[in-house]
Amino acid sequence: MERLQKVIAQAGIASRRKAEQLILEGKVKVNGEVVTTLGTKVSKSDVVEVDGVKVEREEKVYYLFYKPRGVVSTVSDDKGRKTVLDFFKNVEERIFPVGRLDYDTSGLLLLTNDGEFANLMTHPKYKIEKTYIARLKGIPKFEDLKKLRRGIMLEDGMTAPAKVELKKSDRKTNKSICEITIHEGRNRQVRRMFEAIGTPVVKLKRERFAFLDLKGLNAGEYRELTAHEVKQLR
Ligand code: URA
Repeated sequence: MERLQKVIAQAGIASRRKAEQLILEGKVKVNGEVVTTLGTKVSKSDVVEVDGVKVEREEKVYYLFYKPRGVVSTVSDDKGRKTVLDFFKNVEERIFPVGRLDYDTSGLLLLTNDGEFANLMTHPKYKIEKTYIARLKGIPKFEDLKKLRRGIMLEDGMTAPAKVELKKSDRKTNKSICEITIHEGRNRQVRRMFEAIGTPVVKLKRERFAFLDLKGLNAGEYRELTAHEVKQLR
């Protein structure tokens, strides 16, 4: 048995608090009857509706995927490009990616059918660290790395302080590799940060998400998260 507000939140319809509000407002039905008592418990066989729409209640599943480059992080694509779901043909649950990686970015992406978990993982308040390896055109100056560490002005505002390390540089080819850790998730943020200091990213890979990494996986492969990992992330 699960609490009604949890069932609604896990379906990704609303946060738990908003779900409680929906219940109090009389917008939630269990087996056709309006329920306004918070904490009402429902079983798997109970039919829950919010605003007349049935709430899907699948087992929650969590995957860690090594996204290859050249794949979109959406569940469908109007241009007919390959999507992350094309790699999950045998998964029956209606999973979706937790946040996004650019079409050209490879690396660690979580997928789940747990909307509440996805909201937690992407909410700026939780400051989940994501680490990227960026291959750059040019070699950033020490001063420029400092700017990234402090926070840099982008068109959508200042970035939060980042951890940045120059891993490799080659004067002959004028290329370098940086490791960068950020906890925000703005659109194309890492690419825009390096662009802002004049050393654009030529290749980007997400290596870590919180304490998770890609160990044991090749591009295009995935594994389930363990129950322990899911608990640690929450
Ligand atoms: N930052 C980017 O610029 N691209 C990504 O895919 C992820 C972070």
